[in-house]
Amino acid sequence: MSNECWKCGEPAVIHRKYEGKSWCSEHFKQQFESLVKKTIRKEQLFENDDKVCVALSGGMDSSALLILLSELFDDWPNADLFALAIDEGIEGYRDESLAIAEKLCDRLDLNLHIASFKETFGKTLDDIMNDKEYGCTYCGVLRRWVLNKKSRELGATKLATGHNMDDELQSIFMNYLRGNMNRMIRLGAKPAVLQNNKFVPRVKPFRNTPEREIALYGRIRDIELHQTECPYVENSLRFDVRDFLNEMETKRPSTKYTALRAFDKILPILEEKFSAEDPCVGECNVCGEITSGEVCKTCELRERI
Ligand code: SF4
Ligand SMILES: [Zn+2]
Ligand SMILES: [Zn+2]
Repeated sequence: MSNECWKCGEPAVIHRKYEGKSWCSEHFKQQFESLVKKTIRKEQLFENDDKVCVALSGGMDSSALLILLSELFDDWPNADLFALAIDEGIEGYRDESLAIAEKLCDRLDLNLHIASFKETFGKTLDDIMNDKEYGCTYCGVLRRWVLNKKSRELGATKLATGHNMDDELQSIFMNYLRGNMNRMIRLGAKPAVLQNNKFVPRVKPFRNTPEREIALYGRIRDIELHQTECPYVENSLRFDVRDFLNEMETKRPSTKYTALRAFDKILPILEEKFSAEDPCVGECNVCGEITSGEVCKTCELRERI
């Protein structure tokens, strides 16, 4: 491994085993941005007049995405960009990350909207977790519901998330392990759009970008790190899959890229097979939001909390 940038000879900040090259900070930054822009162009993630809502958590991935998009959107005068953060109500954890999100939006001069569980459901996640075990299960369902509804109410035409290559691969393997083949069509940088106008289409510009490279990019762009761990994080299947994939990548560099490219080859076939039978196009009898059944998961959970 070389300690010097292969382009300019300056000290390297990263060595990419999968391509056998080392990069200095400046050349890494340029190349990182151009690869993400390539994904945006190739997958046609945005239109010139899109109103894009970035789901901002205050973590590294969504913060880095907001910085990159804010610069990109300078060249698109008809497009609009703003951020939406969800305050689940987790004392000592979410308040810290929201403070980071607010500072970042001030720095970028972007609007930040905050939607809270307390205002929406009458309870914080802390209240809900008093007598419940599964933090992420509740939190994830409620958060997705709020994100879709609130971003739509704010007029968003796209909801951009900071999902990275590692997240995507974990989802692919989890779906395999659970036998959820029809759910695979919700993956990709621009997942298949649900046929319901209450659904705000998702886009994932970092979908082809490894997590550790986003972390480095974030340090180079002076993004404040949120170090506290959520007290309700579950020791889930996702963690086991993450550890397995990281171990494979260490032993056999390029494993993650190869696995993602292999999935990209079968995704169109899966879309053809499963999109007609995708059931998630109905509306909930209780709240009117999108669901695959009569009553959405959020309304089912609300009954229990
Ligand atoms: S770790 Fe789980 S409970 Fe905590 S904020 Fe994330 S999804 Fe919610
Ligand atoms: Zn260099
Ligand atoms: Zn509902």
